Amino acid sequence: MKKITIAIDGFSSCGKSTMAKDLAHEIGYIYIDSGAMYRAVTLYSIENGIFQDDRIDTEKLKKLIDDIHISFRLNPETRRPDTYLNGVNVEDKIRTMEVSSRVSPIATLDFVRKAMVAQQQEMGKAKGIVMDGRDIGTTVFPDAELKIFVTATPEIRAQRRYDELKAKGEEACFDEILENVKQ
Ligand code: C5P
Repeated sequence: MKKITIAIDGFSSCGKSTMAKDLAHEIGYIYIDSGAMYRAVTLYSIENGIFQDDRIDTEKLKKLIDDIHISFRLNPETRRPDTYLNGVNVEDKIRTMEVSSRVSPIATLDFVRKAMVAQQQEMGKAKGIVMDGRDIGTTVFPDAELKIFVTATPEIRAQRRYDELKAKGEEACFDEILENVKQ
């Protein structure tokens, strides 16, 4: 059967990536986690002195951006793809609080997005991929044969977020999260 590109978009904490991973697994497609790629660039930035406290040395990162290569390889144990940064498995390292709290300013840099979008389009050339993220259906694969938009009620989104934080052993207030989700 002809392989296609599936782009999944939607609000945060709707279960986008869970759905994308399960779908890819079910139909034998490759799941590409675009958030993991921005997390990997953030990890690289932390490890290469690009952060000075909270300031980002954008000039240095700009010079190094073409040296950042991200790939995914299936982990036979979890049956999900692990993220590799320049050939090294960084799946656990990119999920830490330190990376989570620093990824957003890195992901907003134009040249970082340009580089990641180029890598994502390269990975998508062979088709047979499922990719999720807010810009996937619009910027990365505007011609994707199938585009899915995932949504959920504010209460369900807040509950997912609350459960995620609790599972990581972090403080969380449901009502506060619900207010944030509604904004
Ligand atoms: O999905 P995840 O939480 O792993 O994504 C990490 C961060 O990467 C997001 O909070 C967002 O700042 C950024 N991101 C992005 N564009 C995407 C996917 C993620 O800017 N397509």
